[in-house]
Amino acid sequence: MFRRSAIEMRVIILAPIGRDAALLANTLGELKIEAAIARDSNGLLELLPQGVGSAIVAEEALTRESMDSLNAWLSAQPAWSDMPFIVLSSNGRPTRESNRKALEFESLGNFTIIERPVRQETIKSAVRTALRARMRQYEIRSRQEALIRANADLEQFAHSASHDLREPLRGIGIYSDLLERDYAALLDARGIEFLNSIRTGAKRMDALLNDLLQYAHASSIVEEDIEPVPVTAPLKTALENLAMAIRESGAQITIGEMPVVRMHESHLSQIFQNLIENAIKYRSESQPPQIGLSASRTNSHWTISVADNGIGVPAAYRETIFGIFKRLHSNGKYSGTGMGLAICQRIVERYRGRIWVESEPGHGSTFFFTIPA
Ligand code: ADP
Repeated sequence: MFRRSAIEMRVIILAPIGRDAALLANTLGELKIEAAIARDSNGLLELLPQGVGSAIVAEEALTRESMDSLNAWLSAQPAWSDMPFIVLSSNGRPTRESNRKALEFESLGNFTIIERPVRQETIKSAVRTALRARMRQYEIRSRQEALIRANADLEQFAHSASHDLREPLRGIGIYSDLLERDYAALLDARGIEFLNSIRTGAKRMDALLNDLLQYAHASSIVEEDIEPVPVTAPLKTALENLAMAIRESGAQITIGEMPVVRMHESHLSQIFQNLIENAIKYRSESQPPQIGLSASRTNSHWTISVADNGIGVPAAYRETIFGIFKRLHSNGKYSGTGMGLAICQRIVERYRGRIWVESEPGHGSTFFFTIPA
């Protein structure tokens, strides 16, 4: 069940002629719908923030100034809200003024114009439809809230799990080291092999938990006003961190013109580092990595791509590889935790972007991600 209070289903009436308002309230009363009467547009603007299911407004009550305030209120509404308005048009023939006003109402978004004189049945059905639509919006709000709560719980869980599990793991690492230092002479070859397996396992678990912790951190990015940064700065950091891998693999990296974007440098460099590291790691056996970075603008966002000439990603796995701990290879062939792309996706989505891959197996892959411009 979703949450909504009675006040959120009430209908606010703004009709300057007192008798009209009273008649409308009466009609709504027959439907057992609570009505609140606003004396003027200021009254309407005072009542709206307290909760509203729909509003019935007489056209002549909406002056240009009150439309401005109403639009300001509307634009501050959350994404789930699409307040339904019922506008009672003026009596008489359409005039240039009434046509201009009708155009102005467009900015209300969700509105229905009803001609006067209004039939009771017409107003009743319009209000019923409006409140039904509003109810759906409250349902969406509840689902969104539940999703946000579940997400926060998951983040908290990932954070505590990764944090708390590292503690006993440290103990395993320390005691394995002590065992080797003080008792290696007492162990035979099998004993040493077992000990090494314990240490490798502990190291791997440490890497997994470390990445899980990074993932939890990526989840808690808060949107705020971010100063624009040139993409080249975090890209340079990522390339510096990967200098050894680049040198050892003989990778050639070409970088196209890069934009200035509103994103934290550390987040961008983390994405670049993961994508370029993968482009090197999953390289072809027959040729050194060729990696190309470029950026292109589409309306409100930039798309940045990282292309390689590596082993490619089979079509069936192009979505799964972004999942937590999802890998296509054994640790023996390529080391890794399966968290790199999940972290990239988490960061990009926090900035309302998208990340995906296009690939021709055996010839290479191109990873794309979008950032708001
Ligand atoms: P990891 O590299 O630690 O396994 P990622 O989340 O970075 O984890 O990648 C998930 C999987 O996606 C990898 O195991 C690999 O199979 C595949 N993958 C990622 N990048 C590439 C790439 N550039 N070329 C081919 N396969 C890739």
